Amino acid sequence: MKFDHQPSYSLGHRTPSSKDVAPGENGVTLVSQSVLGAINRGRVLQALYDNGPKSRADLARLAGVNRTTITGIVQPMIEEQLLVEGDASPSDFKGGKPARPLYFNPEAPVLGAVLLLPGTIQTCLVALTGEIKAVTKAEFDPFGDRQAFIAIMKDTLTSTLSQAHRAPFGIGIASAGMIDSDNGVILAVNLAPVLTGLPLVKILQEHFSLPVVIDHHPRALLVGDRWFGPGRGQQNFAAIYTGEVLGGAFFIDGKVYRGLAGSGGELGHTVVQIDGEACNCGKRGCWETVAALSWLRREAARIGLPQPGSITCARLVKEAESGSEPADALLERYTRNVAFGIVNLQQTLSLNSYVLHGDLAGGGATAAERVRRHVERLVMMRPNQEISITVNGIGEGHTALRGAAGLVLSSHLKVVI
Ligand SMILES: [Zn+2]
Repeated sequence: MKFDHQPSYSLGHRTPSSKDVAPGENGVTLVSQSVLGAINRGRVLQALYDNGPKSRADLARLAGVNRTTITGIVQPMIEEQLLVEGDASPSDFKGGKPARPLYFNPEAPVLGAVLLLPGTIQTCLVALTGEIKAVTKAEFDPFGDRQAFIAIMKDTLTSTLSQAHRAPFGIGIASAGMIDSDNGVILAVNLAPVLTGLPLVKILQEHFSLPVVIDHHPRALLVGDRWFGPGRGQQNFAAIYTGEVLGGAFFIDGKVYRGLAGSGGELGHTVVQIDGEACNCGKRGCWETVAALSWLRREAARIGLPQPGSITCARLVKEAESGSEPADALLERYTRNVAFGIVNLQQTLSLNSYVLHGDLAGGGATAAERVRRHVERLVMMRPNQEISITVNGIGEGHTALRGAAGLVLSSHLKVVI
């Protein structure tokens, strides 16, 4: 399946090339008008994401420029049907022309998103407003044949993309395992060897003639939080995922932090217990050994909780709230073990804001509040410092898919600077 045309939009600011940026005689470096225009468009789009629908006057105030400048930036985006004007609210009418809020057009080209986990593929379309549609799911044999996997992936994506009215901006992939996001390669997935070494970005780019980006699952959760969730408008926060594994990702000073070739964020393997329990990675005492589901289930069995093999944070909270003391005590230990890793992060990066995903998110506000209490007890607090621990309430699968779409936004529209 190939789309006949590429999207006509050029919203993002490109990386300035030598043609755009030339040092002057005195070594002063300026950027060309076209690059400036793209940067301004990116900033206006980001302001709308961060603040919700805004009138031209509001946008001018937020950007510190006059209305004429804002109109010059937004008008082409309205003509391209990327933005739409909402109805003027009567309260906005102050004698002049009533202000009409601008926001993303639900009919604008969408973003393609893929969530790739061992054995399962989920694909969908994500509107610029964050709405998820055309979800298609498929299964594959994680130990099977490479060509069979590629065929299933192409079929699943084709089924989703064929429901788009206009060519999507691109396809974002959130994948389990070790990912080289710079080169678009899945380096290794222990639970799905069929994916190991797969240059998935190149394969899909050639097949669909669309831009494709890939990143690892916890980082997609972070990007989903930043664009469409509790990280919206924040300059510093981390996403923490707990489940069979433990992972995370950071948004630092307004940017996604990736590390070398996307290798940053292996939080599960930071050591919290010297010479502690053996970890899947071959080392000992990793955070994952005391804060992932396998630990929780082992401890649940040890203290005699019913059906320990399938216990989750959600069930633990329920049992604790209905008066089970052992469940309450285990929840306390689980959230404390999670808090220790967050404390190390807080001492290192001082992000002050953490969004929980995966099993802990299933424990909702109760689990988040317990983690927060432990963090505040364990960390060296500065005066007036507040640490926020939240859960992203829309569910991990949807956040990861929105995050995969957000990767396309960030990469090809260059909205996050
Ligand atoms: Zn480890």
